[in-house]
Amino acid sequence: MMPFIDLAAQFAKLEPAIRRRMDAVLAHGKFIMGPEVAELEAALAAFTGVDHCVSCASGTDALLLPLMAKGVGPGDAVFTTPFTFIATAEVVSLLGATPVFVDIDPATFNIDPASLARAVEALKARDPKAHPLPAGYEHLTPRAVVTVDLFGLPADADPLMDVAAAHGLFLLEDAAQGFGGVYKGRRAGALGHCGATSFFPAKPLGCYGDGGAVFTDDAELAAAMRSVRVHGQGSNKYDNVRVGLNARLDTLQAAILLAKLEGFPEELEARDRAATRYSAGLAGLVETPVVPAGLRSAWAQYSALHDERDRIIAGLKDRGVPAMIYYPRPLHLQTAYAKLGYAEGAFPHSERAARRVFSLPMHPALSEADTDKVVAAVREALQ
Ligand SMILES: *Cc1c(COP(=O)(O)O)cnc(C)c1O
Repeated sequence: MMPFIDLAAQFAKLEPAIRRRMDAVLAHGKFIMGPEVAELEAALAAFTGVDHCVSCASGTDALLLPLMAKGVGPGDAVFTTPFTFIATAEVVSLLGATPVFVDIDPATFNIDPASLARAVEALKARDPKAHPLPAGYEHLTPRAVVTVDLFGLPADADPLMDVAAAHGLFLLEDAAQGFGGVYKGRRAGALGHCGATSFFPAKPLGCYGDGGAVFTDDAELAAAMRSVRVHGQGSNKYDNVRVGLNARLDTLQAAILLAKLEGFPEELEARDRAATRYSAGLAGLVETPVVPAGLRSAWAQYSALHDERDRIIAGLKDRGVPAMIYYPRPLHLQTAYAKLGYAEGAFPHSERAARRVFSLPMHPALSEADTDKVVAAVREALQ
């Protein structure tokens, strides 16, 4: 079976740099908040084009830090897409706030700005006929929106920020998959009031464990997030000004990321070349992913659509090609969210995508022979 993501090939290429960086940490012994953490934050802020980067322990914590720093909690409505990984909505619920789902644009898989505007207006008007609203909506106030750069493609930030501005919403960009992507000359992670990413090993920029980071130009927000990251710390360790977390990034992970960041731009190019070859070969066979003009995907996943998705996946498996389904069930239909009372049919574009989507192997070491093999396997599977 060919690998779905080839981390071994990446390590083979970067091994000397990674080992050098890890050895330096073993030598200085500052395993918590060592010098590599600040160095990484500066490098990531420069890469992303923002004033402040706050590293943290996971992508989930990266979503949690800004929402906690902003005081999001019970009674707050947080608008987001149901076609995403559970963490996007989970952090909202953990804080006692309520996710209000908004359907996707079926072409990009990302939250649809016009539907977002309708959802906010429907909530304000207490009109569940204008948009499917969750149980208890009568008691909710619009507070924030979490957009997701699904599969690596940045969400449509300009119109989304317009809706956020019109309604006074805080816009958090979940760039866990989008990190490295570009939206009209700006990097993913820098597209909202705040951006969050993940360094889970399988993400476009991954470490060797859990890790994450938050990006913002807002100095006050950055300072609050640094406080939340270490137990709501105030002027010193034993001055606690808010309830917080232990959400620090390990120095060893920062060291690994510093080594990997060097090669990241080149990897993004390699992912893009592989995606272009897939799309050329698969045209007419399946619905290939759309990248709107002015945007670049980080290609966290190469995801296509087909009515006979399951037949394709079975045929690929027979031919030694792994495929995955991200995501088979939208969040509004998950058992964990049954209490929100959403019915099947509430978000038809998300539900249709969940029935038809499948993802092919994607990583920077994919050769032309690899993508040709995958394309041929898809063609044979459909014959
Ligand atoms: C991976 C992911 C997360 C969570 O990141 P972790 O580092 O696993 O906590 C959040 N949102 C999206 C869209 C993701 O893909």
